Amino acid sequence: MKRPKLFAGRARLALLYRRWFFSMLCCVLAVGCSILPALAQSPDAADSATAPADSGSRSHSVRIPGSDAPISLTQALPFLRLLEGSQSASAYKYSAVPSHPAMLAVPEAAVRAGSATNAASGPAASESSEPALQADASSMALQPTAAANGAAPPVNAPAAAPVKPDKPARIPVLNYHSITVDPGNPATITPEKFAEQMRYLSKAGYTPLTLKQFSDMMEGIDKGPDKPILLTFDDGYMDNYEHAMPLLKELGFHATLFMSPGMVDDGYFMSWEQIKEMHEAGWDIQPHGMTHPHLPKLNVKNQKFEIAEAKAQIEQHLGTVADVFCYPYGEWNAATLQLLQELQFKYAFTIEQGLTAPSQHKLKLKRIFANGEESLEQWKSRFEK
Ligand SMILES: [Zn+2]
Repeated sequence: MKRPKLFAGRARLALLYRRWFFSMLCCVLAVGCSILPALAQSPDAADSATAPADSGSRSHSVRIPGSDAPISLTQALPFLRLLEGSQSASAYKYSAVPSHPAMLAVPEAAVRAGSATNAASGPAASESSEPALQADASSMALQPTAAANGAAPPVNAPAAAPVKPDKPARIPVLNYHSITVDPGNPATITPEKFAEQMRYLSKAGYTPLTLKQFSDMMEGIDKGPDKPILLTFDDGYMDNYEHAMPLLKELGFHATLFMSPGMVDDGYFMSWEQIKEMHEAGWDIQPHGMTHPHLPKLNVKNQKFEIAEAKAQIEQHLGTVADVFCYPYGEWNAATLQLLQELQFKYAFTIEQGLTAPSQHKLKLKRIFANGEESLEQWKSRFEK
């Protein structure tokens, strides 16, 4: 086993900061995505494993799924203004100072939810519109009755091909990041807690899928196992190699790693040698951008490089087909979707919260954020009814 090099002085500090920054951003975005459906009480939220059952969002506080820390209405005020339409997403993004870290993600979350709502009228409508800062937030939230009584079309539903009746309703796709000890960072999970979760899955009879099995189930080619689950790991942290790979091997579990070839072997991320070893141990390796960029901030040419080059390098190093994407920070725009289609990607995973279903747009699939601060019971409740 190749161990990470030890860096001294500034270089190590810079790497530590970078790793913390990535994991915190992923966490903040995921939590932000969780809160939106909770507020909106949309049909999507009703389907979501993460939708809170309590009515806290309509009384005095907003509870973030997976967190014990409620946000007061005062803290949520800029967010609510955004939803009501009394403040534009751009004004929120650039002028408001969110008083809770989870609020930082709201404009992007609103944009995605707005785009998803647009998608209900067909893929063309979604893809011809610019998701950036064009969310019709007022149509999404503060209208729980209309949404809950089925008046609104299901979010994401009509974009995919017709669903055969024997297809599975939903597949939990769990989203892990770093497996390490980092108190206060819910995007990380301790090796002990991770092992507890994996052993639970094994004991409870879950079958972690390969991407081929996942695809066959999504396409209705195969019914799949009784209790399917897809384990995904973002970014390619060295600790995935150290803690996840041996345990998953022992349990006979498959998993999927979304990695950025531009970050390979820099001390905190795996080397190609290690990635190859994971692939041979039953992991699917798929792209997460070359350098983990904020894709919507790039022009089309640079987005294409980030996506196509990451795909090419993985295919070259491993001799496989890399056609399943995972959006860095969960961010995408119309150009991203267009590029993924041109490059013939079959699926793309977001950080929108919920079980994954064949009815969802294939390039906007949901996942379930594995919050490292949750108890086993809380974690289970996200995908078990
Ligand atoms: Zn990432």
